This record gives sequence, structure tokens and C-alpha cells, in this order.
Amino acid sequence: MTCENDAIALVAGGAGFIGSHLIDALLGRGWRVICLDNFQTGRFDNVRHLEREPRFDVCEADIIDPLPVRLARSRVPITHVFNLACAASPPHYQADPEHTLLTSVVGTHHLLQLAEQRGARFLLASTSEVYGDPEVHPQQESYWGHVNPIGPRACYDEGKRAAETLSFDFLRTARVDVRVARIFNTYGPRMRADDGRVVSNVITQALAGDDITIYGSGEQTRSFCYVDDLVDGLLRLMTHEQDYRGAINLGNPHELKVHELADLVVAMTGTRSIVSYKPLPIDDPRRRRPDIGIARRVLGWSPRVHLEVGLEKTIAHFAAEARAAADLPFVRSAVRRARSTGARRSTPSTVVAHYER
Ligand code: NAD
Ligand code: UDP
Repeated sequence: MTCENDAIALVAGGAGFIGSHLIDALLGRGWRVICLDNFQTGRFDNVRHLEREPRFDVCEADIIDPLPVRLARSRVPITHVFNLACAASPPHYQADPEHTLLTSVVGTHHLLQLAEQRGARFLLASTSEVYGDPEVHPQQESYWGHVNPIGPRACYDEGKRAAETLSFDFLRTARVDVRVARIFNTYGPRMRADDGRVVSNVITQALAGDDITIYGSGEQTRSFCYVDDLVDGLLRLMTHEQDYRGAINLGNPHELKVHELADLVVAMTGTRSIVSYKPLPIDDPRRRRPDIGIARRVLGWSPRVHLEVGLEKTIAHFAAEARAAADLPFVRSAVRRARSTGARRSTPSTVVAHYER
């Protein structure tokens, strides 16, 4: 196994939400990192703090195109390729479905070829969406899934399924040592306020005092994993030396209904927002919870961060962004109220004040 200080990782999608946290963790362990990104949904702000880091480099490119010459021909001995490049929120990946599908298929092929050329290990960030609207619960890796191949989510779901297929074909033919993570809903700081996912929507709506949008009845379930836990799982998956080579679920098995998540955020922020029900999107999965038995056994991994703790950090992130970017009346007045009463964190408004610091 490569000594960590000799490791050079290419992180495709490194300017995104999960990718940027992964890069921080890799640098923290002494790796060198090249971030490859087209900045479609990623932001330079996510890696701005690394601008002066000599072990870090950014390469702007789209992985559906042939890889840039400076990367493909460079002599930098890349030892690990992490492929996280792909818009992940339904509104974003459905905005240009053709590009989403090509990113997973053609883009993954380009990165697998690069890994083969360099003798690098390869990790694919796949998704629980490969299980579609699952008929088996909780979802084990052995379940083949229930995906609508022609629906609006198919560009993402089928793209990731094809990316898994390609990855395992390279593995079977001994061309690349491949690792595949099936990531379940992940949340945390650096999510975009406008990405349309439930965690970002509900928190930004609560902080702004806007209506909280629940799609359908809110009875559908998800299991939310805090980003630090997920990154720990990705690192363990990339570096383990066990014989296991199948796909591995990474997610938090704590399952809750979408309206329960909204209730929790309302309580934590103390917002006066009311819930507004909207139509359920087509093919929206009804239930989702990972079976993480394989991750526990092979990687010694399980999530540690409780939902309330992760949400508190995520709310703090969105409150700070809101403070920097816009005038959110609820945040302002809640903070004013908290300061004038001198109240402690037990009241809703001081919870917001806490996030404001
Ligand atoms: P994100 O949108 O924040 O990050 C994706 C990154 O990939 C962005 O920086 C984007 O600019 C970049 N990108 C997209 N298409 C590209 C292309 N063609 N070429 C180069 N760069 C490209 O999303 P995220 O939540 O950080 O997700 C990261 C990965 O994890 C994705 O592959 C996603 O499918 C997977 N995943 C995420 C979740 C989740 O809950 N966040 C769940 C399952 C799987
Ligand atoms: N959702 C919701 N309100 C929102 C955004 C999403 O009720 O403002 C629902 C969505 O329909 C889905 C769940 O929350 O049932 C999770 O949606 P998200 O887009 O976060 O992730 P995914 O559907 O990809 O799991």
C-alpha cells in the first residue's frame, strides 16, 4: 500500500459539497491532491481556503471531454482517482439530463482509463439511487434495484448504474483496482442553498421564515448521513486491503420521514414558518435506508454523528451564508430578540443566535 505521504489523489468533482470535504481530509492526512472540476454545481469558494496550499492544485475541465493534456500527459504519479464528478441534486441533475448521463458514462470511462494508465486505485461515488424506488427494505448491496429507465431520474440512476458496470468491467479484467461506494443522502456545511435537496431547502426556508416545502405527504423516508462520517467511509473504502471488492453502502441507517426532518428543523431554528405541501416528484423513492453490515465488517465503519448534531452544524453554515449574502429577516430579528433578552440556547431564538456566532 502506498505510504500516505507519497499518495497523490485526483478528486474529480472536488469543488463540490462532498468532494471539498474529502480534499480537506486527504490534505490533513498528508496526501497531495489535484481537484478536477467543471464548476457546474461546485464552487471555488469550497476550496478557496486551500489557495496557498502547495500540495493542492485545481484543474478546470469537464470529464465528458478528453482529459486536459496537462493532466493526461503530466508525469505526476497519480496513485488514487476519486470520481465524485456528477451533479447530485434532482433539480440540478435533471436540468441537463444528457450531460448528467454522459458525465457518469463517458466521464467515468475517461477516469478509469487514466487510472489504468497510472496504475492508480479508483473509487466511484455511486448512489443509493441505483436501488431506485426499492421493493426491498432496508437496501442491501445484493439487491439489484427497481429503477424506471425512462423517467426523469433515469439520467442519474441509470448513469450511475452504467458507471458501476464500467468500473466492475475494469476490475474483472484486472485493469484497475476499483472501489464502489453507494452513497445514501448526505448533508452538511457547503451544501448549496439553491440545490433543491430537502435538507438545504428546509433549513434555508426556516431561516428565512418562508414556507417549508414538503413534497407529497411527507411520509416518504430517507436516512441522512453527516458529511464527516461519509468522508471517513470513503477514505476507509479507498485504502482498505481486504479481499472484498463488491459495492459498499455508505449511509446512516437512522431512517425518518421527511415531515419529521422538517419538524426537527422547525424546532431547532424556532422559525414561525408554516409547512406548504407540493406535489411529489415523479418516481420519488418512498423508502430508503442502508443496510451497512458490509461497511461495518469490511471497513470497520459506521456513522457517529447524530442527526441533531449534524443539523446544528449545517444550520450554522446556512445562517453564516445568509448573513454574508442576503438580508434574512427571520435571522436578523431572531438574533436581535435573543440578544435583547439575554436568553440562553434553550429558547428557539437563541438557537439561531448560536448559529450566528
Ligand atoms: P455536488 O453537485 O456538490 O458535487 C459534484 C461536483 O462535480 C461539482 O463540483 C460539479 O461541479 C462537478 N461536476 C459535475 N459534472 C462534472 C463534469 N462533467 N466534469 C467535471 N466536474 C463535474 O454533489 P455532491 O453532493 O458533493 O455529490 C458528490 C458525488 O457523490 C456525486 O457523484 C453524487 O452522485 C454522489 N452522491 C451524493 C449524494 C449526496 O447525498 N450528496 C448521495 C449519493 C451519491
Ligand atoms: N423533498 C421535500 N421538500 C423539498 C425537497 C425535497 O419534501 O423541499 C423530498 C423529496 O421529494 C424526497 C426527499 O425530500 O422525497 C429527499 O429529497 P432530496 O432531493 O433531498 O433527495 P433524494 O430525493 O435524491 O433522496
